Amino acid sequence: MKPITPTCPKCGYDQSGEIATWESQCPLEGRCPECGFDFVWADVMDPVPKCETSSWIA
Ligand SMILES: [Zn+2]
Repeated sequence: MKPITPTCPKCGYDQSGEIATWESQCPLEGRCPECGFDFVWADVMDPVPKCETSSWIA
């Protein structure tokens, strides 16, 4: 597998640092710390690392 580098859809800011803060929970939505753009992780990454598909549906 090649590493996934999610980036902000708006400004292209690397979001991998944000993902590194995830432990047991995976937020569905995120906000770019660079430009403040709100996005859905599923739109940024496919598949989403560290998250089982079943754990997404709460
Ligand atoms: Zn951004």
